[in-house]
Amino acid sequence: CKIDYQAPDDMLKGRIILVTGAGSGIGREAAVEYARHGATVILLGRTIAKLEEVYDEIEALGAPQPAIYPLNFEGASLKDYQQMADTLHSEFGRLDGLLHNASLLGKITPFEQYDPALWEQVMQVNINGPIWMVQALLPLLKASKDASVVLTSSSVGRKGRAFWGAYSVSKFATEGFSQMLAQELENTSQVRVNTLNPGGTRTPMRKSAFPAEDPDTLRTPADIMPTYLWLMGPDSRGHTGEMFDAQPPKV
Ligand code: NDP
Repeated sequence: CKIDYQAPDDMLKGRIILVTGAGSGIGREAAVEYARHGATVILLGRTIAKLEEVYDEIEALGAPQPAIYPLNFEGASLKDYQQMADTLHSEFGRLDGLLHNASLLGKITPFEQYDPALWEQVMQVNINGPIWMVQALLPLLKASKDASVVLTSSSVGRKGRAFWGAYSVSKFATEGFSQMLAQELENTSQVRVNTLNPGGTRTPMRKSAFPAEDPDTLRTPADIMPTYLWLMGPDSRGHTGEMFDAQPPKV
């Protein structure tokens, strides 16, 4: 956890960073912060209007002009990921960072009652779609001198918890995928792969998971940005296949 990390103002200058789920919550904040620190950010998400708001916010900061890439992990096919890689290749030629942050909570319910169609949907959005996106983007990541892939996990992706269903299983899969890929790339490329657990954070997803919780007791997306910045920047070089937390453990 790097909650006290202070990123130099221009730390991400010249870096090309893709953020999934950039229209809301933590992804939105990370996209704006990366841009504020000099990165050209590609805003990926399924709701264009939300991405446009983030685009405007970044432009108003005078940060490097971002790009919008609309994509829905639910319906996207291998062809869509390849097309995305081709577009990014012709626009930018490489990718220095990928924050995969988009995800679907599904339903918190006993497994006995879990709807199989919803289970498939959550797995598709949280892991099955994103892994093929990563595969398509690997040549672009390898073209960078120092690329950081950050996959968003959760505490229920590190220790199982009753009723968390497909969401929990998809986050365990995210951890496994990250460790596998990190090891494959460790000695053959400059691409590092790590997972990041934001910890309880004041967002729409948190509200739907814990409707009765007082949001004022939670850190905001802005509060947890130091670790998001550290993992994208040069100070985290040499770390790969590791699990990080954006907040200190609750005591
Ligand atoms: P939000 O629900 O606020 O944001 C999730 C984002 O994912 C939204 O931008 C959403 O787009 C996007 N998304 C959802 N489905 C799809 C899809 N099919 N295709 C493309 N994009 C999609 O959640 P948070 O900001 O809270 O969560 C961010 C990450 O942090 C997630 O990976 C979550 O699992 C993780 N996390 C969050 C915690 C918390 O307390 N907030 C705790 C632990 C982990 P749209 O807005 O268009 O729906």
